[in-house]
Amino acid sequence: MLEHVARAVEPSIRRVFNLSGTVIHTNLGRAPLAVEAIDAVVASAGEASNLEYDLIAGTRGERDDHVTDSLRRLSKAEAALVVNNNAAAVLLALNSLANRREVIISRGEQIEIGGAFRMPDVMTRAGCRLREVGTTNRTHLSDYADAIGPRTAAILKVHPSNYAVSGFTATVDESELARLAHERGLPLIVDLGSGSLIDLEAFGLPREPTVASIVERGADLVTFSGDKLLGGPQAGLIVGRAKLVEKLRRNPLRRALRVDKMTLAALAATLRLYFDEGLLAARLPALRQLTRPTDKIRVMAETLAPLVTAQIGDRASVSIEPCLSQIGSGSLPIDRLASWALIVRPRGSSRKIRLQLGAWALAFRMLPVPVIGRITKGALVLDLRCLEDAETFVGQLHQLVPPVDP
Ligand SMILES: *Cc1c(COP(=O)(O)O)cnc(C)c1O
Repeated sequence: MLEHVARAVEPSIRRVFNLSGTVIHTNLGRAPLAVEAIDAVVASAGEASNLEYDLIAGTRGERDDHVTDSLRRLSKAEAALVVNNNAAAVLLALNSLANRREVIISRGEQIEIGGAFRMPDVMTRAGCRLREVGTTNRTHLSDYADAIGPRTAAILKVHPSNYAVSGFTATVDESELARLAHERGLPLIVDLGSGSLIDLEAFGLPREPTVASIVERGADLVTFSGDKLLGGPQAGLIVGRAKLVEKLRRNPLRRALRVDKMTLAALAATLRLYFDEGLLAARLPALRQLTRPTDKIRVMAETLAPLVTAQIGDRASVSIEPCLSQIGSGSLPIDRLASWALIVRPRGSSRKIRLQLGAWALAFRMLPVPVIGRITKGALVLDLRCLEDAETFVGQLHQLVPPVDP
């Protein structure tokens, strides 16, 4: 009965500790927002706001105006538009520019992203016919050139987000594709997926093409997510040529894909942080967690291990080991970041360990702030890269209920 009541008053969406080892984890809400973005959400949520209101003119304004200037400056593009997520951005771009016509795409870029986003399906739903060129591993400029015909409306390039084709491969660079597209009077659309606004190498992270570099290479429209590497709220950002962005803006579909005031408030505040790059890694949680020094994580692991051991007793062993974190959400799919983890290994036969592992993972998930780890090679791995609030983690350890013996 009491449990019933407790469950009824508990909010459905709750904070968790993401110790899964994937920093930008779609199932765990992707990028955490910066304090500045959260404050902006709170300020916009409970009161009337100038969401679509020009305070100087005293007339109706455009809701996107709150972010377009920042987006244009950061991407060096002529114009910008915001929709609900990147899937919506791709849908809107294709439907606005290529309805009932053909879009050329490489067979190596016919991607599926988690959550049933399949590029061919989205293209069909947008009303365009796919014109696939090349092969899974190799596509050449001539493949694109040969496919252009009277029904062609655009060339689409999709960033390989969650996979890498390696070995005997060939892809066509955006600048070559842009040159070809423009010679034939076609736009080049690039779905960049994560789309970083800054050079991540400068932060010691693997290289990822920046939005500005893709614009500079001649892409006419670039779409990317707000809640992946950018570190903001869920949103789909579209930047590019003013004339094309205007076409998207006038598409009636856009009304169905528009974003809420809280999203815009968070996005505007997040983008503002980018104008002070020196402080960005401190303020933006996703970037802060991605760039967290390995030795700091190790120190935390060394501090926490004895505390977890004290709670678990001799039912399982707790050790610390180096591990590799993933960036996640289709960013930099093959690169890994060196990190440290607490490793919980049930004792006993390998059969018993197998039976017990799930129960240990569940025990950690049943804590007041659920701890989400991952199970690999006979152990529960708690990657500490994203654990910033160690105090709360430690403070609730006494409530951990070890599983009963099978
Ligand atoms: C993540 C991703 C999408 C989908 O973006 P959402 O913001 O989740 O809708 C589309 N294309 C690529 C290449 C991606 O990486």
